[in-house]
Amino acid sequence: MVEAETIAAIATSVGEASIGVVRVSGPASVKIARAVFRNSKNERICKFVARKMNYGKMIEPETGSLIDEVLCFYMPAPHSYTGEDVFEFQTHGSSVVLHKALQVLLRTGARLAMPGEFTQRAFLNGRIDLSQAEAVMDIIRAKNDAALKNATGHLSGVLSAKIQAIRKEILDFLASVEAKLDYPEEDIEGLDIPQAEKLLLASIQAIDNLLSTAQVGRILREGISTVIVGRPNVGKSSLLNTLLGENRALVTEIPGTTRDSIEEYLTVRGIPLRLVDTAGLRTSDDYIEKLGMQRTRDYLNSAGLVLFLLDASQSLTDEDLAILQCLPSVPVIIIVNKIDLPQLIELKQWESFIGSYRVVALSAKDRKGFAALEQAIQEVVFMGETQGLEASCVANVRHIERLKCAKVQILSGVTALQAGLPVDCMVIDLRSALESLGQITGETVSDEVVREIFAKFCLGK
Ligand code: GDP
Repeated sequence: MVEAETIAAIATSVGEASIGVVRVSGPASVKIARAVFRNSKNERICKFVARKMNYGKMIEPETGSLIDEVLCFYMPAPHSYTGEDVFEFQTHGSSVVLHKALQVLLRTGARLAMPGEFTQRAFLNGRIDLSQAEAVMDIIRAKNDAALKNATGHLSGVLSAKIQAIRKEILDFLASVEAKLDYPEEDIEGLDIPQAEKLLLASIQAIDNLLSTAQVGRILREGISTVIVGRPNVGKSSLLNTLLGENRALVTEIPGTTRDSIEEYLTVRGIPLRLVDTAGLRTSDDYIEKLGMQRTRDYLNSAGLVLFLLDASQSLTDEDLAILQCLPSVPVIIIVNKIDLPQLIELKQWESFIGSYRVVALSAKDRKGFAALEQAIQEVVFMGETQGLEASCVANVRHIERLKCAKVQILSGVTALQAGLPVDCMVIDLRSALESLGQITGETVSDEVVREIFAKFCLGK
């Protein structure tokens, strides 16, 4: 075991709920559980049965007074989440009960766990590697099905296996090269340079394959930043409400934002969209006007997808044209709204501006035409291909950065090889690449980075 201290924390979110969980992990867990738990016959338990729910009550050991009726679950080391002796007490989901339960665990020998410390112990005790530990947090924070699926894949080791495979190729190669370096009498010219080059380029290709998933990975993690624009009264809020009404993602709390968040999440045909600045849409009719043209441009340029609305029941105006001219070079869908009304709009006269865009006609009021809009979103975002969302993607910025670094280091090794430099130069580059890759899975990562990663976790995880 790496840690000797026993830690405790509330593992569920605190608020009114049907149940809550307090968790304790470490060598003193059994002693603590004996002190605070009594079975249904009010007896102290000397030997807890592993992985079995014990019904009973949690008490204040000093006075014997009842805290709550609980279920107590024991997971002995090493087959627990942390790899240590773990107890979980399921209480009623009252914040008073949970805090009292936590306090009693702290009084009987545990200390308060730091954010992510349970998972950090799982990592330090070799239960999971670092990328798997990070996947735990991604699961907790997943905002849509696809992101969840990707994160669970990473937790089960999909990414780790790919990284390990690349590392193994390089390690084996280095071992063979270093064997030759260790025995100077063996001619280093014996190194099969074309073969070595091929092997290293294959590793680079494998890294490129992972990096090529990063964009989709980012979309999964954050959603495509989607902006709805159009002059006042074209129906932006109506469109927003209809879209949200049918597709709103089940997200109640988004880290870093407040309840009256200016962002809304929704999923359209499996594609996660993050609707940006919806507060602006809701509160101000002349939002674009208020922003001014430069800010409108910036606002539009930050988008990954633009939904530009026109009003079918009116002729096109200069204001429409002004927005059209600001449209950025990201996927844009022109939505001709209010097709339930007599149509005055004439898109033909604007052919030169509109021609290259995908146009969808709908009625936000009657909720008609939304299937075509969803189809258009799918097509402009992924060229109709959403299989990318099914694949395992690299979604973590730290992983992407380390992969890029490893690629540069291997490339540098290849260059050294091609330039006929002493083999040591290539060996140094490849060792650095191994270290970069190892930082993803945690083999070669510094304590400081580990601390930084787990500090971003939530309490009790
Ligand atoms: P925004 O200023 O662009 O956000 O526009 P709103 O969504 O507030 O809509 C302006 C007006 O147009 C409201 O009275 C809506 O009820 C109406 N409206 C929006 N969409 C439609 C539609 O598809 N058909 C009709 N007939 N009216 C609509």
